[in-house]
Amino acid sequence: MDSTNRCGYKKQAVDMNTSDFTYKVDRFADIEVLRYLVPDFEKLTLKQKILIYYLSEAALCGRDILFDQNNQYNLWIRKTLENIYINYVGNRNCPEFLSFEEYLKRIWFSNGIHHHYSTNKIEPSFNEDYFEHLLKSINFEGDENLLKSLIFNKNLAAKRVNLEQNTDLITSSANNFYRNITQKETEDFYASITNPNDKTPISYGLNSRLEKAEDDTITEKVWKLNGEYSKAIVHIIAHLDSAMDYAENEKQKQVIQSLIEFYKSGDLKKFDEYSILWVEDTVSQVDFVNGFIETYGDPLGYKASWESIVNFRNEEATKRTHIISKNAQWFEDHSPINKEFKKETVRGVSAKVITNAMLGGDCYPATPIGINLPNANWIRQIYGSKSVTIENIMEAYNKASYGNGFAEEFYDNDQDIQAWYTYGFATDVLHTDLHECLGHGSGQLLPGVSQDALKAYGATLEEARADLFGLYYMADPIMMELNLLPNVNAYKAAYYRYLLNGLMTQSVRISIGENIEESHMRNRQLIAKYVYEKGLPEKVAELINKNGKTYLVINDYERLRQLFGDLLAEVQRIKSEGDYEAGKDLVEKYAIKINPELHKEAIERYKKLDIAPYRGFVNPVYLLKKDSNGKIIDVVPTYEEDFVEQMLRYSKYYSFL
Ligand SMILES: [Zn+2]
Repeated sequence: MDSTNRCGYKKQAVDMNTSDFTYKVDRFADIEVLRYLVPDFEKLTLKQKILIYYLSEAALCGRDILFDQNNQYNLWIRKTLENIYINYVGNRNCPEFLSFEEYLKRIWFSNGIHHHYSTNKIEPSFNEDYFEHLLKSINFEGDENLLKSLIFNKNLAAKRVNLEQNTDLITSSANNFYRNITQKETEDFYASITNPNDKTPISYGLNSRLEKAEDDTITEKVWKLNGEYSKAIVHIIAHLDSAMDYAENEKQKQVIQSLIEFYKSGDLKKFDEYSILWVEDTVSQVDFVNGFIETYGDPLGYKASWESIVNFRNEEATKRTHIISKNAQWFEDHSPINKEFKKETVRGVSAKVITNAMLGGDCYPATPIGINLPNANWIRQIYGSKSVTIENIMEAYNKASYGNGFAEEFYDNDQDIQAWYTYGFATDVLHTDLHECLGHGSGQLLPGVSQDALKAYGATLEEARADLFGLYYMADPIMMELNLLPNVNAYKAAYYRYLLNGLMTQSVRISIGENIEESHMRNRQLIAKYVYEKGLPEKVAELINKNGKTYLVINDYERLRQLFGDLLAEVQRIKSEGDYEAGKDLVEKYAIKINPELHKEAIERYKKLDIAPYRGFVNPVYLLKKDSNGKIIDVVPTYEEDFVEQMLRYSKYYSFL
């Protein structure tokens, strides 16, 4: 899945007078909350609308699972703070209470006490005395010292996902995927139950917590009906069950049925069966993801966070990605990678553009803009994968950024700013299409090379591979031939933005002195810094100083494209050969450390713009219209709910753990 937050970075000439709809919902700390429209929902059939309604209910029922996965105390803390927030009768307008409110909003936004992106623990801006005062107001009974330590002691549960080399990644990570167990014991455990010769391996460890008991026995606590998280899963199953009655066709019914069976049994073989059925259903217009999917929350990549997204195909925009996928073989054949790493036949690239209707779990409120699933490599190889671009989310980002001053501050000249306004959105969606539809699916591993050979560097390099694929081809004449870009120079707007972002502006999301941790961000700096440094002797791109400010100038776009191609070839070689050392060198050299001066400057200039570095969304509320017999006659999305209202409502009606 691609990351959310290319935020604040988009701007395009759009007609702002077309509707009274307001995209902006809330702003606090480093967060801006937006809302998204669900265009063309009214054009769906009643049956499809009801299907979406029930799938959306299922999407909301797993929220507590994610909170608990992120840290074992998250739900306890959230409920305590909500209790205070709802019941406190003292002064609610004093700075301390507003700080408390902000802290709670941040926890809601991050699904726990750790920042959703940096995974560092969120620091409150009110003090312990004030918190004690708040606690008294609700007659709190529980371990007050533990609660206060979790909130105020920086060193306790400091980081949710620790990726730092030379530490025990498991014991130093505060997620709730492992208990009383070390990295070595975890790796040994999974090595002992994995058969390296298995051509169709299940995703070991995906849906369980690994625990070591006092007597040293190691067990997986499986997340399933009558297992862990059963109280939430039973509701998910019930809504999926209702949804099944409104499935668009027999195949979709099977998809939902097999997911229910997986939730009931916890059997990962069933999950693979479900994934295969899901990837094969390319006919239904309504689609959804619901389950334990992405493993970014586990530094070792075994355990998946719960997430859900409900959507329907945007028929008009999907034509664009059909053109891309129809030509998948051409792209593979002409890719600048070594021949032995190419797929002879590229299969199953099913690409579509979707309209998101509901976000849940790890997709909410911070939201992906693209999805590429399933994750199991062998299923992707045999059955292909589904790639989607979530256009209404991208559009909301885009429109909400209109006029935020970003380009005016960071761009070198008006021409580049204009190019961005004109082609920014078009190239952005196209890059996402190429990344998701072709990039991740391109290339192959040499025989005997493990999918996990690159270990902790794998995620960064995989994202780099997909991004580079998109960057390289965006400048290809074929884009004009296929009518995917309106102008032969349009790609330059994307190149400029990509380099600027990777070299400089993305760092505004990271505190001074810290390294880049998140794999999409690592990937972007890796690419930008690599091509910048390789191109320096020929001055392909330069960072120049004007009036004490640093600006990016790109002198040779064609050469830049070749450098993207060179790096793509190298990253593909590393992946295909499982060359861990080379992958490690590349990531360590280019992706992690930020240039301290540029970092400081970017933060100072960005601060003045007052743009939130992270953004996310509230969901619409779907109203059921019924006739006098109680029969559903319509489903209508509404867009009035604000962030706090939504969070409190979800906590009231969708909290089962
Ligand atoms: Zn990706």
